[in-house]
Formats: sequence, structure tokens, C-alpha cells
Amino acid sequence: SKDTGKNKFTMFCRNMEEELSRNAQILEILRSAISSKEVYVKYQPQYNISTNTITGFEALMRINNSKLGNISPAEFIPIAEESGLIIGLGEWILREACTFNKSLLDQGFTPCIVSVNISTVQINHPDFVSMVDSVLKETNLPPQYLELEITESTLVSSLIDATILLSNLQNLGVHVSLDDFGTGYSSLNYLTTIPINTLKIDKSFVDNISKNDKDACIADAIIQLAHSIQVDVIAEGVEHEEQLIVLKKKNCDIVQGYIFSKPLLPSALINLLKNT
Ligand code: C2E
Ligand code: CA
Ligand code: CA
Ligand code: CA
Repeated sequence: SKDTGKNKFTMFCRNMEEELSRNAQILEILRSAISSKEVYVKYQPQYNISTNTITGFEALMRINNSKLGNISPAEFIPIAEESGLIIGLGEWILREACTFNKSLLDQGFTPCIVSVNISTVQINHPDFVSMVDSVLKETNLPPQYLELEITESTLVSSLIDATILLSNLQNLGVHVSLDDFGTGYSSLNYLTTIPINTLKIDKSFVDNISKNDKDACIADAIIQLAHSIQVDVIAEGVEHEEQLIVLKKKNCDIVQGYIFSKPLLPSALINLLKNT
């Protein structure tokens, strides 16, 4: 009836209003997140698949707000990107991650690589490479212990020339990894044309690797091609023993996922490093 239609419309409006106000609230939270200390970092360890030792860890941004509680990066990163606030937040997490890794080196732990996610918005900022350079100098982290994670779709859709950007980064001495590989639109051939150190096979592939022969074949081809051009392979989102067995058989180099560890607070990562 007419009534239901009207109710539906009112409900739709209310949902939209709620969403708008939640986005507006998140935007306000992001604006002051650094000064209010509501943004912090968790680190997820990455393991060498054959020695089971930690070779690195990925820095993942977290927000905890007194009113909204924990907000997922899947929700706040797009808002940070649209508003441009990712420029400041991205620089903040890079400095945080470099400072933390430098402190681990100073404490005498076996050197590890810290990897930091880089947004498309950051890549297209003219000062991006010099910003990375300044942060490295300021924190004294030797560049080979920093890896920048850039997604396949960022590289393909970027306004700036990917090859030039990547070689500028390589000139700084930092590592570059191609994140979420397999979800973008690039061809396998594209891989051989860009200078990268590491490739991360996306979780969506890893999910089915022990159940689906086709996905297993694709993973196999990706790993072999990567190795033929001296690129290391990380499998992300590994949750089960069966996935680990397949990845080992296919000579994957590094694994990251809940099977080993969730993202950890710095203190918990330090405890883990002490006990392994
Ligand atoms: P991503 O770069 O693909 O990061 C991996 C995501 O998978 C993380 O989610 C991690 O917690 C989760 N994960 C790791 N292992 C497992 C597993 O075994 N099972 C499952 N179900 N999940 C696993 P998170 O931390 O929620 O981050 C989501 C996305 O937000 C990231 O995806 C990345 O694209 C973005 N993000 C997070 N931090 C930053 C940041 O500092 N800067 C930028 N630009 N993006 C970030
Ligand atoms: Ca990543
Ligand atoms: Ca990823
Ligand atoms: Ca992913």
C-alpha cells in the first residue's frame, strides 16, 4: 500500500542520515586522531615458511574512539582518502613504524622488515618520495628494513608513472611489495616489467588454495614467475594447516595470517620476538 511505501522511504532516509552522520563523526575523529592519541598501530608478524622464524611484520592502522569504539580500517581508510587526511595519517604511521623497527634493532633483535601500507592518494602526492626519505633520515632506520606495500590496483590506476615511482623508491634503498596481488586487473606479464622486491598473494586466493585446483594452479604459476625474476612471495590471510601445506609444497617464501598470529600491540610483538 501507499503507507508501506512511505514507511520504507522514511526508513531509507533515516538509514542514509545515520550513515552520513557516522561518516561525519568518523571524519571528525580522523581529524584529531593523532593529537587525541585515538590512532595506534598493530603489527602482524610474517614467518619464513621453512624456518618458522619471523622475518618481518606489517603495520596496520587502528582507531579507538571513546564514543564509537574500534572502527575498522575498511571503514575509516576510504574516509581518510576522500578527505585527504590519509596524507597526514600515512606519514604518521610510517614514522611510527620506522621508529619502532629502529628501536628493535637497537635492542639487538634479529633484524626484521617492517612493512607499511601506502594509499593511492599518497602515491599521487608530489612530495611522497621525499617524505619517505625524510622519515628514514629522521628515524635512522636503515632503508632495507622498510617495505612499502602498494596494491596492484593502485599501481595500475595511478596518475603517475609506476615504473618511475618504483625506481625512485628503490633508489632510496627501501623494499617495495605488490599488495593484494591477483585482485587487480594487471596481467602476469606486468609483473616482469616493474621493479619490486616482494609480491603478496591476496587472501581471496589463499582461501581456496587447498580446496580449488584452479586457484592452486594460479598460485603455483604466480610463485614460479615471481621466483624467476627474484621476487619473494608472501601469502596473506593464511588460517589453516591445509593451506600452509600447499603453500610449502609450492615453495612460497613467507606466510602471514591468523594461523601464526593476529596483528599485535608493540609490547606483545616484543614478547613474541623474545620467545622465538
Ligand atoms: P591489507 O593490506 O590486505 O591487510 C591485511 C588485512 O587482513 C588486515 O586487516 C589483517 O588484519 C587481515 N588479516 C591478516 N591475516 C588474516 C587472516 O588470517 N584472516 C583474516 N580473516 N584476516 C587476516 P585490517 O587490519 O582490518 O586492514 C584492512 C585493510 O585496511 C588493509 O588490507 C589495508 O588495505 C587497509 N589498511 C590498514 N592499515 C592501513 C594503513 O596504515 N594505511 C593504508 N593506506 N591502508 C591501511
Ligand atoms: Ca597490506
Ligand atoms: Ca594485502
Ligand atoms: Ca588483502
